[in-house]
Amino acid sequence: RSRRRIFSGVKPTGHLTLGNYLGAVRRWVQEDQHGADALFSVVDLHALTVEHDPARLRRLSRQAATLMLASGLDPDRCTLFVQSHVDEHARLSYLMECTATDGEMRRMIQYKEKTARERAGGGSVRLSLLTYPALMAADILAYGTDEVPVGDDQAQHVELARVLAQRFNQRYGAVFTVPRMTRPPVAARVMDLQDPTSKMGKSHAETAGIVYLLDEEDTVRRKVMRAVTDSGSEVVYDREAQPGVANLLEILAACMDGLDGADGTDGTDGKAPEELAGEYSSYGALKKDTAEAVVELLRPIRARHAELCADPSYVDGVLRAGAERARGLARPRVDAAYEAVGL
Ligand code: ADP
Repeated sequence: RSRRRIFSGVKPTGHLTLGNYLGAVRRWVQEDQHGADALFSVVDLHALTVEHDPARLRRLSRQAATLMLASGLDPDRCTLFVQSHVDEHARLSYLMECTATDGEMRRMIQYKEKTARERAGGGSVRLSLLTYPALMAADILAYGTDEVPVGDDQAQHVELARVLAQRFNQRYGAVFTVPRMTRPPVAARVMDLQDPTSKMGKSHAETAGIVYLLDEEDTVRRKVMRAVTDSGSEVVYDREAQPGVANLLEILAACMDGLDGADGTDGTDGKAPEELAGEYSSYGALKKDTAEAVVELLRPIRARHAELCADPSYVDGVLRAGAERARGLARPRVDAAYEAVGL
């Protein structure tokens, strides 16, 4: 295989956020689909790990795929599909559960955090929330993936996928490629505007701290203008002492950064958040510029999304073709894995 293979995904547990876009989707669009053989998936099986409503899940999966296209994923350059349309993910997940230990699963930070949240809300925890990283490892390994471009929040899961690939290969023979994680240079972790110590997560309850890609322009402005800042008054970039201001600076820097890409843009217009801090003497001005930058960033995505919604058969066709190609890539490797373990 001459080109690097890339796999990444979005979980349809809520509406896509600015965090998903800056931390992941934008780089898929601007870089990954150009230089590599890239697969992007709406990982709907992962959405079953928490309480869910079937009709809402179906709607959100569709919306996520549509927004990925609206953001610029090009079906002629990459493969876009829905995870549950490709049986190989679930098939390989079981083998990954048989490769991992329960201790490894219990150590995952996201499992601990989400379990605490579910239990605090009086809910029970689905077993699949614990085994989630096995399915994620299967997602990645089924395709012989070389690179996994994700935000920081996924680092531990990708690391586990590496460990499982190595362990499987050692024990049963070289079936899997050991993948590497790649992260974006800025905005690897966009934080909640109202609680800048917690990440802007689409699965969280909807609050004014989360900017959604489909928010109306005025809603975006209001949310950014009301972002929690810190008690100081000087604009400095300090993630520890001034997380709210640092978050705004990172968002602004990310919005202004053209990113390097095979599409011909170079990233030289980007400024580091530290540098931007020096250009502001008040929080108000910083918020205003950030709000406008986010509005500009999202405008074309919202417009393209509306166009795509008017043409559902186009989206259907993209997802059907994507699933077919994904199946063809995954099946031989998953078959080889089944055979290697003695099945
Ligand atoms: P979420 O946590 O919002 O449900 P997913 O698990 O579906 O998101 O992740 C989709 C991609 O978006 C992943 O690559 C993840 O690292 C990235 N991502 C999610 N939230 C953020 C954030 N707040 N900042 C940066 N990247 C993020």
